[in-house]
Amino acid sequence: MSIKSAIKCNCGQRIIAKDVMQTGYYLRLFGPSFVYVKFRCSRCKKLGEQFVKQEEWEDGILRDVPTEQSTDEKSKFENMGPIDIHEAINAHFQLDDLMTLVDDFAQKEESK
Ligand SMILES: [Zn+2]
Repeated sequence: MSIKSAIKCNCGQRIIAKDVMQTGYYLRLFGPSFVYVKFRCSRCKKLGEQFVKQEEWEDGILRDVPTEQSTDEKSKFENMGPIDIHEAINAHFQLDDLMTLVDDFAQKEESK
């Protein structure tokens, strides 16, 4: 299992900021931290979710190519800002099942 540098739907559509419905920050004491992203694909309209390594998230993973991004979308993305501590707490308590998933995911990453 490899970590992709872009978030993609199962149909192959790239997920960008405007498709994202929810993000959660999964901080681990040891090893890399992850960002959980829940999205609705703009092409097939299906819901999906993916984990992204924190450093890849901060590298602007949801940034669309500039020519395809309207000013509105750009300002919306900027307004989202960094994931704050409240979102992190919400994610932590709402996503018990997800924590099991992310631990599994992290273990696979570490055993590569
Ligand atoms: Zn799709």
